[in-house]
Parts: sequence; structure tokens; C-alpha cells
Amino acid sequence: MYTTDIPLSPVSPSATHLSTYPAAALILSAAHARQFPADTGVEVAFAGRSNSGKSSAINAITGKRGLARTSKTPGRTRLLNFFQLAAGCRIVDLPGYGYAEASAAERATWAPMTTALAQRASLRGLFLMIDSRRGVLEGDDGLIAWAESAGCAVHVLFTKVDKMRRAELATAMALARRTLGTRATLQAFSASDGTGIEEARRQLHRWFQAPVAVGAAP
Ligand code: GDP
Repeated sequence: MYTTDIPLSPVSPSATHLSTYPAAALILSAAHARQFPADTGVEVAFAGRSNSGKSSAINAITGKRGLARTSKTPGRTRLLNFFQLAAGCRIVDLPGYGYAEASAAERATWAPMTTALAQRASLRGLFLMIDSRRGVLEGDDGLIAWAESAGCAVHVLFTKVDKMRRAELATAMALARRTLGTRATLQAFSASDGTGIEEARRQLHRWFQAPVAVGAAP
């Protein structure tokens, strides 16, 4: 099921429009850390509250319509879904949080997996989706703390900005920036009208290109 033969999309250094990942595919849905793919290459996590626009963001950034829908099929929403975008380049889609129906028991099954994920040498960054109309909420803070424990950077996508008026958005972004401080970078994003998709691709590309940490697995 785990394939490694997907070619890296060519990206010209002068290109303003970064390549998408047409060969992106789900490689596995893990219910336990022992099922994770080999800890090699580079991995970037995607997380956010349920309904924050995470699936739409994954589809928009990869340029592969319907890719993250596979994470939403019954039985997969509570798993860690690993997608391979190119050789040695993966994203991992974490379960959406913030809904009351995610029971304490379910959260207890995620905790060991997210703890194990944080220890992987391949984990390079976290994209955190935050609905721009809701702002930074408690669970978001927990994910940032998780990324800090993993020693990886956090880039927040302030989602669904097409629904905000310009002045409202400026105020909400200023507040979010104050709340996040130096713990995360922040950008406006809309899967619907395309705002920030290229900027998010550049961030993903930077993480995929980042050298492996000293002492980490190749
Ligand atoms: P997830 O639960 O975090 O994976 O969120 P989804 O990507 O499934 O999106 C949740 C809802 O928000 C869906 O109805 C989407 O159509 C909608 N949505 C997602 N992104 C955007 C966006 O950029 N703009 C608008 N207006 N709606 C969006």
C-alpha cells in the first residue's frame, strides 16, 4: 500500500506558480503509531477544528480535487491519514477537533498517535487551519503546544476569508497575530476564491526542501 515511486513535481526556481501534486495519493490511514510509514523523508502535518476548512485547504494546496475527501469517509475521520505528494514528501491529516461528539475515549486513542508523530524525525511543520470568523480558540492553542513539543514550526491558514469584509478581516488578523505572537506565522486563505493558495504552497515547498535535522533519520 505504501508507494515511493511518485515523482517530485518539477519546480522552476523562477516560477511564480509552484507545481501542484497531481500524483498525490492516500498511502495509509493509521489507527496506531505502529502503522505509521517509515520515518524517512519529510512530513508536514495538517490540523484544525472540525469544519475549519482543512480538507478544502489540502485539496486546494495539492491541486488535487477530492484528495482529502478520503479522510472524511466513514471510519477514516478518526484516523491519521498519510498522503504521499512526491517521493519522500508526505502530509499527514490529523483528526478534526472541537466537536463534542469526539469522546474522551476517542481523544485518548489519538493522544498516543500524536505523541508518536511529534517524535518523528521527518516531521517538519504544522499547517493549522483556523476559521477566520472564529479566531484562535482553545483547541488551537493545544495544537501549537504540540508542535512546539515536536520542535516544528507552525503556519496558520486563516481560512474562508472570502466570507469576511476587508475591514473585519484586518481586525481579525491583527487580533490573531497578537494572540499567536511569535509561536506561529499567519496568512489569509480561501479555498473558494484562491486567496493565499500560492503562499501556502510556497510554505509547504520550503518545508519539503528543508534539510534533515542533525542526528535525525535521513
Ligand atoms: P474540515 O471539516 O475542516 O475538513 O472542513 P471542510 O474543508 O470540509 O469545510 C467545511 C465547510 O466549509 C464546507 O461546507 C466547505 O465547503 C466550507 N469551506 C471550506 N473552505 C472554504 C472557503 O475557503 N470559503 C468558504 N466560503 N467556505 C469554505
